[in-house]
Amino acid sequence: MLTLAAAALLLGLLFARRAYWSWVASGGLLLLGWLFSGPDSWLSFSATAALFGALALVFGQPQRRRRWITPQLMPRVGRLLPRLGETERIALEAGTVWWDKELFSGAPSWQVLFAFQARGLSESERAFLDGPVERLCGMINEWDVSQAGELPQEVWRFLQQEGFFGLIIPEEYGGLGFSAQAHSAVVQKVASRSITAAVTVMVPNSLGPAELLLHYGTDAQREHYLPRLARGEEIPCFALTGPESGSDAAATESEGIVCRGKFEGEDVLGMRLHWRKRYITLAPVATLIGLAFRLRDPERLLGGESDLGITCALIPAKLPGIEIGARHDPMGIPFYNGPIVGRDVFVPLGFIIGGVERAGQGWRMLMESLAAGRSVSLPSLSVGGAKLATRVVSAYAMVREQFDTPIGRFEGVEEPLARMAGLTYLMDATRSLTAAAVDAGEKPAVLSAIAKAYLTESLRRVTNDAMDVRAGAAIQRGPRNVLGRVYDAVPIGITVEGANILTRSMIIYGQGAIRCHPHALDEIEAVASDDLERFDRAFFAHVGHVFSTATRSLLLGLSHGRLERSAPAGPLRRQAQRLSRASAAFALVSEACMATLGGQLKRKEMITGRLADALAWMYLASATLKRSHDDGDDAGDRPFVLWACDHALANVEQALDGVLRNLPARPVAWALRPLVFPLGRRERGPDDARVSQVAKAVLDDAEARERLTSGIFIPPADELGLGRLEEALAKASEALRVEAQLRDAVRRGVIERAPGEALARAGLAAGVISEADLKALEAADAARDEVIRVDSFDPAELRQRAR
Ligand SMILES: Cc1cc2nc3c(=O)[nH]c(=O)nc-3n(C[C@H](O)[C@H](O)[C@H](O)COP(=O)(O)OP(=O)(O)OC[C@H]3O[C@@H](n4cnc5c(N)ncnc54)[C@H](O)[C@@H]3O)c2cc1C
Repeated sequence: MLTLAAAALLLGLLFARRAYWSWVASGGLLLLGWLFSGPDSWLSFSATAALFGALALVFGQPQRRRRWITPQLMPRVGRLLPRLGETERIALEAGTVWWDKELFSGAPSWQVLFAFQARGLSESERAFLDGPVERLCGMINEWDVSQAGELPQEVWRFLQQEGFFGLIIPEEYGGLGFSAQAHSAVVQKVASRSITAAVTVMVPNSLGPAELLLHYGTDAQREHYLPRLARGEEIPCFALTGPESGSDAAATESEGIVCRGKFEGEDVLGMRLHWRKRYITLAPVATLIGLAFRLRDPERLLGGESDLGITCALIPAKLPGIEIGARHDPMGIPFYNGPIVGRDVFVPLGFIIGGVERAGQGWRMLMESLAAGRSVSLPSLSVGGAKLATRVVSAYAMVREQFDTPIGRFEGVEEPLARMAGLTYLMDATRSLTAAAVDAGEKPAVLSAIAKAYLTESLRRVTNDAMDVRAGAAIQRGPRNVLGRVYDAVPIGITVEGANILTRSMIIYGQGAIRCHPHALDEIEAVASDDLERFDRAFFAHVGHVFSTATRSLLLGLSHGRLERSAPAGPLRRQAQRLSRASAAFALVSEACMATLGGQLKRKEMITGRLADALAWMYLASATLKRSHDDGDDAGDRPFVLWACDHALANVEQALDGVLRNLPARPVAWALRPLVFPLGRRERGPDDARVSQVAKAVLDDAEARERLTSGIFIPPADELGLGRLEEALAKASEALRVEAQLRDAVRRGVIERAPGEALARAGLAAGVISEADLKALEAADAARDEVIRVDSFDPAELRQRAR
């Protein structure tokens, strides 16, 4: 015990002078050692102390250390560190780190998150949501769109006229100049009505010509294109993916050769382009192609390298040699998507975005611009879909009765309902926090990848639950089934903007480990530049960090987070403390993975995938706490918040447990387990009582349901689908009160048990209910009959459609 105490004290002193937890742990252990050991142990204690004292003389003195120790260490550690390829280095340099860095540190500063103020929507942004967006939603019927195979022309005109294609283009160029939060709110609302329209609006406002021009375009390019894009006179697409280059987009075989040629009758220096692209959204109707290709200059006409690298250019779609117009059929969701081929397309070098100086900088441009769009588009679409599903299913679960009971009252149904509601809250919180971070000037590369991957996955979970609860009514397609299209669209979100498997297993932790780690990037750069002093500083600070994190993980693990003092006061303090504990455990496990696997870690994708899960669920839980805090900790939302935190924290623990079970360095994993889970796993997920509480909140608390699903389009009461469901729910709520009165009268023996209408009549005759109550029951029955109907078609109509 004393040996341990001495070791902890001295290592704490050596490496973590400012680390509070090391001091506490070391002091505590020393005290325990002194209390529980007899005088015999003092000899071994003194010997150990002397040994560590000697080591302290060497390690604790930077000058001596740098002379004797660091030169030996640097090459050895350097071999363990990951080597970064050019594309990885560029991806790492792009974007910023924010709350992800706090979570990675093992000691997140809650002050950073809670003091952060989202900018909120402006008057004009609100007016746009209540005006044009509301009108757009009213114009679209997704069932009709799916039957027609495209959006109606009047919808296209409306999108163009009202500026939907210029949400991110500044007002000086004729765009709307919206914040990321407003952009997100628009996509969310449109997606709740029509995935086809949402994708159509999303693409011109995401990574593509407008975004690239804004950051890198020449003045002339901006002045020419941005006003035309804002007015919808140019329809853009962005073509990166090709048959050979999907996830590995940098491996594109599309190329441009620098050469002289004729353009519009003049002899100019330009590029001869060849490309094959596919899956390109809006391509079939695009007039302007943002094209990514590898630029080569074999004759060195530009005077530099022959392989200039990935380059982005704007190519008018009408040029000779371009084949465009064919359509893919993305899961029956009829937004425009298709291949584009270019053969021998000659354009001047001035078509490169940013001009010839930007030749070869395409990958950097794409990586730098990716974070903003990825923070907004798919997270917002996913939340729009999830809110719609939760709204529809929570109404259906009260209206649909089986065994004389609304199905939402069965515990079996409560479980998926609670999951839908809890996930919807957590998804929405993540959507708005990530967009707010973008508005605050962040380019959150890691957090945007988390938001994209985990919100599209959460939508998959929510729609699957929605399908199960709606059962037969979910399966029969038709105008009444408003969730069918969302369900069909789920794999699209999973795949685009970085397919989720790759995003989870490669990008989130791969980038996070280096970018967010307090010392890793410093170490890598010091080794790369052979800077011994910088390496020494980074490495020994890193060692100190490991000791303080281990101590913190142990103490927070033992106390289940209760020793975390920096957690904000208030009703959710325990949740924040538990999250701090998860962060310390994650940081420690992450250190062990980096130290034992080194450069191999990036190939251990099952390990990095689990670490990504842990980081992602911590972010989602923090966003949940932040949302609740900003909303004044509304007690009506508390069930959703608690469910979301329990769910997220259980996922974090499961992920860390999975890493420890599979870490190849087994002795390290065994040594780590008592520090990470000193009392075993503590986070078990929401219990049954919590699940029931959440289900009841979404079924019975109309205001909580309204807040949870706010921001989506609610159709008029006479519209098939959600409109009529909402009306039926209002009537069913009234009827449920009357039915309860009748049941009570049966129990008391005032009236005899009888089927539906007969019971109501008996109740009326016995004075248990009034005429108005009877009418309410009849109205509810009629509304119920209507909303449980599903569509059926004339066989000839179905045959026609199949053709
Ligand atoms: C509807 C739709 C719209 C699209 N719109 C556009 C657009 O407008 N512009 C554009 O340029 N592209 C667009 N895309 C392309 C999209 O970005 C790609 O589909 C995506 O990048 C994946 O490429 P892939 O489909 O070829 O899959 P592949 O690259 O073949 O990947 C197959 C699977 O392997 C996984 N994988 C690959 N490498 C790794 C790895 N190292 N580790 C772990 N897993 C890995 C992937 O995650 C995926 O699950 C669109 C795609 C769709 C479906």
